[in-house]
Amino acid sequence: MWTTSTPYTIILLTAAAMTAFFAVYGFTRSRSPVALPFAGLAVVATFHALGSAFELASADLAGKIFWTRIEYIGIVFIPVFWLLLTARYSGKDKDLTKTVLGSMIFLSTLTLTLNYTNDWHHLYYTSLGLDLSGAFPVIVIGKGIWYWVNQVYINLGILVGTIMLIAGYGRGSLTYRRQTRLMITASLFPWIGFLVYLAGASPHNIDLTPFGMALSLPLFGLALFRYRLLDIVPIAREAVFSGMGDGVIVMDGAFRLIDFNPAANRLFPQLDARLIGEPVIAIMKDHPQILDLIKIGQDTTAEINLDQNEGRPFYHVRISPIMNRRGRTIGRALLFSETTEQVLLREKLRSLATLDELTGACNRRYFTEQGRKEIARAKRHSRALSVIVIDLDHFKAINDRWGHEAGDVVLRGASGRIRNELRSADIFGRHGGEEFSIMLPETPPDQAVLVAERLRKAITETPYRLLSGASVNLTASLGTAGMAVIAEQTLEDLIRAADRAMYQAKAAGRDCVRSAAEVTSVPV
Ligand code: GH3
Ligand code: MG
Ligand code: MG
Repeated sequence: MWTTSTPYTIILLTAAAMTAFFAVYGFTRSRSPVALPFAGLAVVATFHALGSAFELASADLAGKIFWTRIEYIGIVFIPVFWLLLTARYSGKDKDLTKTVLGSMIFLSTLTLTLNYTNDWHHLYYTSLGLDLSGAFPVIVIGKGIWYWVNQVYINLGILVGTIMLIAGYGRGSLTYRRQTRLMITASLFPWIGFLVYLAGASPHNIDLTPFGMALSLPLFGLALFRYRLLDIVPIAREAVFSGMGDGVIVMDGAFRLIDFNPAANRLFPQLDARLIGEPVIAIMKDHPQILDLIKIGQDTTAEINLDQNEGRPFYHVRISPIMNRRGRTIGRALLFSETTEQVLLREKLRSLATLDELTGACNRRYFTEQGRKEIARAKRHSRALSVIVIDLDHFKAINDRWGHEAGDVVLRGASGRIRNELRSADIFGRHGGEEFSIMLPETPPDQAVLVAERLRKAITETPYRLLSGASVNLTASLGTAGMAVIAEQTLEDLIRAADRAMYQAKAAGRDCVRSAAEVTSVPV
């Protein structure tokens, strides 16, 4: 039956169809973090629009009251879903605690109950009647106390959500800002509709909120899904995300956490769904290497060691941009692939090639290589440089008395003590058997003698404890040679002079330090 109210009913039914469509659309986007609140809001709007449509179409009061109740299922839950949506969208959902949410759901349910049971207490409507004076019958209500409580609640909820959007606006990337502008604009429609209705300025006193909702939902949908910022998540997930062994952390254009996969969570146990929207810089504050990588921002790679102690896992980290279809960077992904085995193998090879296995000192070749570099540097900058040669005394006797293995223990012990005395810039090498050589950059000859004396004390001061429990005394003879300013001398010249000084120490009765008077250059 066509009446004057029919056009409004048709518009409202169209609005309901639209909101229902967006509810379904929202649910199909369920991988996006805002999809469910969005869908919830659409469902709520559908109840509102559908209820309004049939309320208008009903000719009698009983019918209108029935459909008003359907409408209210929608109305009372608007603030719940709106706040959920805006909080999630602006990355503030951890501020929306369970208590707040629980209280809101309680308040919404209470309002719905009071509305349904109004006949018993008249807290919601003081009166309900039908106005038949217009072109079609409209419901006339006397607004009770809880009616106003509900108005305050709904408007406050919408206001807080909108403030959250505005507050997050400045912090966001350009894409985020454009999205937020659209969200804020869209949220104005239902509000305007509602205020017009409250002011009594709407045609036939029809509540215009459902119309506003029907207009704003497509805009929300556009803001949330069309710009695809939050869509990075499902796309990345779909292809590679969950099952892969490599860790992935997805960030938006402003380096806020968007998502991470289980492998990344294993690497960084601090990652938590509640941190989504937080700056990754803050989450990764204990990993300076990752911070550096993020700061560079471009497509770069680095090899990092996540945990110095446990199993020393090494990761190859890559940061790569995520582009939208127009080729603009809308986010970045951090990818972690484990390379522990390769790195350890490489280190092992390197150590085999450079270090002596028994003592951990540089092998002769590596010592020579590094020593020559130091000499060249000292020459360039006219710096001092000295070397020390150490030969352990009567080592053959130790081997003979305690066995070769015990000799090894002592040898390792002595080199440990030597290393303890050195600076990190010094180069410590095993020259052969029980002979060591040390290069001391920026150390003039007189200071080298002091260092040698310190080394002699460290080597000889306390006996060496063998595995058998026996203790062995050890002494060493040391020779030093150096230049206050390096001229044409080579590494070999220095070693030869220090070696001669060491033999002088042997000749002087061992367990002492001798220094070369001068270092002469011998042409090769
Ligand atoms: P001095 O230098 O005081 O004249 O007496 P020495 O007994 O140390 O004499 P020399 O330097 O000639 O002998 C070096 C000995 O060191 C010979 C060898 O048995 C022992 N030696 C060399 N390399 C190792 C090693 O790697 N392990 C052990 N256990 N012994 C070694
Ligand atoms: Mg020797
Ligand atoms: Mg010796």
